[in-house]
Amino acid sequence: MSSDTRRLLIPAAAILLAFIISLTWLLMATKPASPPEKTPVLVKPEPKPDWCGKLVQHMPKVSKEMCEGIGLQPTGTLSVKGFPILARDYVSDGKRKVPLRILLIGGIHGDEPTSAAIVFHWLQNMHLPIAHSIQWKVAPVVNPDGLFVTPQTRVNANGVDLNRNFYSPNWERDAPKYWQQRTKNDPRRYPGKTPLSEPESRWVHDTIESFKPHVVISVHAPLGEVDFDGPHDVPPRRFGRLMYNRIGVYPGSLGNYGVDHRQMPVITIELENARQMPTEEEGRRIWRDMLIWISRNISAKS
Ligand SMILES: [Zn+2]
Repeated sequence: MSSDTRRLLIPAAAILLAFIISLTWLLMATKPASPPEKTPVLVKPEPKPDWCGKLVQHMPKVSKEMCEGIGLQPTGTLSVKGFPILARDYVSDGKRKVPLRILLIGGIHGDEPTSAAIVFHWLQNMHLPIAHSIQWKVAPVVNPDGLFVTPQTRVNANGVDLNRNFYSPNWERDAPKYWQQRTKNDPRRYPGKTPLSEPESRWVHDTIESFKPHVVISVHAPLGEVDFDGPHDVPPRRFGRLMYNRIGVYPGSLGNYGVDHRQMPVITIELENARQMPTEEEGRRIWRDMLIWISRNISAKS
């Protein structure tokens, strides 16, 4: 290479290099800015509330596995102290054109823990054909606040007997009068200031309005008998060892409301003991006898 050529090439190379550098700079400058790196937000899954863990501490002979296996769901209604009213729906097997709809509730009185526990046991047998043809809504613990306190209370956290807090004819006159005169202001039987003043009784009432059960089964203890409030007079003779006995109608009771306001039969099961469960065999017998009686005597008209 001659010195002349070299003299020409060096500035040309310098110009080219400067051009490349400028171009690169220009390209970098016009390149859209990459979005700022997102800091990953760690969303912790909400821990599932341990409702069963709490419930089983207050009931005899119901394990956490048994409770969880049922798959209870929150209904959207909370007790006075904020525990959800839990329920489970069971669809019928579809063999009947209009399946029988049954609302089954336990534990409306918190100091009758067997009345809640037996419902958990019955729900282990929902696969049996006689239960399977029915459309169920089941709430085993309607008064969780009364169940959770020590000592357990019949009434809810507002001191209201939920089973005196339903509509009944002349409630405003009769319920307070009955409470004052007949129960001598027994705090365990306080009916509340107005019917349906409590979230728990309202839930039962609203569920009856929307679900329209053909029969309601409400479980109690410890009278050891079965009662039936119905628009037609066909009481059951016995379920297991529990013999039929007319317990009576009280202002604001669920039986009173069901019959007088809805022409809807209410079966009241009174287990023999509020704290000690019936034997497995006896529990099954009550369940089976009750379902056989219902299937023979209650018709699903609509
Ligand atoms: Zn009761």
